[in-house]
Amino acid sequence: MIPFRYERPDDTAAAVDVLSSEPGAAYLGGGTNLVDLMKLEVARHDVLVDVRGLTPATIDDLPGGGLRIGASVSNSRLAADPRVRRRYPMLSQAVLAGASGQLRNMATCGGNLMQRTRCVYFQDLTTPCNKREPGTGCSAAEGHNRDHAILGASPQCVATHPSDMGVALTALDAVVRVQGPDGERAVPFGDFHRLPGDTPQRDTLLGHGELITAIDLPHLPSASRCRYRKIRDRASYAFALVSAAVALEVRDGAVHEVRIGLGGVAHKPWRASTAEETLLGRPATAASFLAAAEAELAGARPLPGNRFKVPLARNVVVGMLNDLAEEQL
Ligand SMILES: Cc1cc2nc3c(=O)[nH]c(=O)nc-3n(C[C@H](O)[C@H](O)[C@H](O)COP(=O)(O)OP(=O)(O)OC[C@H]3O[C@@H](n4cnc5c(N)ncnc54)[C@H](O)[C@@H]3O)c2cc1C
Ligand code: SF4
Repeated sequence: MIPFRYERPDDTAAAVDVLSSEPGAAYLGGGTNLVDLMKLEVARHDVLVDVRGLTPATIDDLPGGGLRIGASVSNSRLAADPRVRRRYPMLSQAVLAGASGQLRNMATCGGNLMQRTRCVYFQDLTTPCNKREPGTGCSAAEGHNRDHAILGASPQCVATHPSDMGVALTALDAVVRVQGPDGERAVPFGDFHRLPGDTPQRDTLLGHGELITAIDLPHLPSASRCRYRKIRDRASYAFALVSAAVALEVRDGAVHEVRIGLGGVAHKPWRASTAEETLLGRPATAASFLAAAEAELAGARPLPGNRFKVPLARNVVVGMLNDLAEEQL
């Protein structure tokens, strides 16, 4: 491992100052992703600025009924919070579907959003990878691409985003609160992560030095009728082949509100807006659900190794919508 300096400033402003003056510095949360990547020398940083405990470690009620999740809240604590379990059950289920108990105890919510792809070539210094080393090529495009993207990819990168939490957060219209050298800003979750385009080295729209301080969840009464489902090779300790966070509210037999997030299919947690638009006001039937899922996946461009993801994603979404509808009829 390349030697680095460890710093623990007194507050978030001082942490932002350190990063602003050190181009090779990075924030350290629980370290469950960053330290692994540093050991592999995929990530190389001169300075690590420990922000675990500097950003808030509390979950607070917002006026109007939402919740503010501090960036230092552990993944375990988020999943166990009674308000999250009652009001946003799919968020709790998504977090519990990820990693292991020990990892969730260490991992922070800020770090979870910033975790890097699990593409095997990204972690292998001996292979070309545009995300790790821009301009070298994408080994996955012609290589092992079973785990890769079917939506929104580019010739430069076909990686997927690994976060389960992010799939629920995109469906919930969360907002990421950020503190940076130029002040504070609030970023809608759907804009936070990027598609790869020609610059796959950038996963998010954060600039160097910008620090996640919290994640806001809006008040969403319908979000209690929801669930998260993750399809993976093993029952635990495996990343999603396809996952979905779905909320559905049926009134008088028709779709009154629907939210669908997909994981394991794109470079970012994917909001299935086309499926949602197709469904609003339509009868809450299996035929409508199938038409909506097919409309969303009409834009899928699978790779030789992951064609199975298209029917898998369709079946997961349709099955979850059917289950949620049946419970309300
Ligand atoms: C074996 C294993 C299995 C896993 N399985 C899953 C899984 O199934 N599903 C899943 O979703 N995840 C899984 N994970 C990933 C795990 O969820 C992440 O490693 C964890 O959430 C990262 O949080 P952290 O606090 O440890 O981040 P760190 O490792 O400390 O940091 C990760 C990145 O975030 C940046 N960062 C940290 N805090 C902030 C902040 N406040 N503002 C800005 N940037 C910040 C760091 O600079 C770094 O780039 C797995 C991890 C392992 C090791
Ligand atoms: S898919 Fe992206 S991360 Fe994987 S090898 Fe290609 S450029 Fe690298």
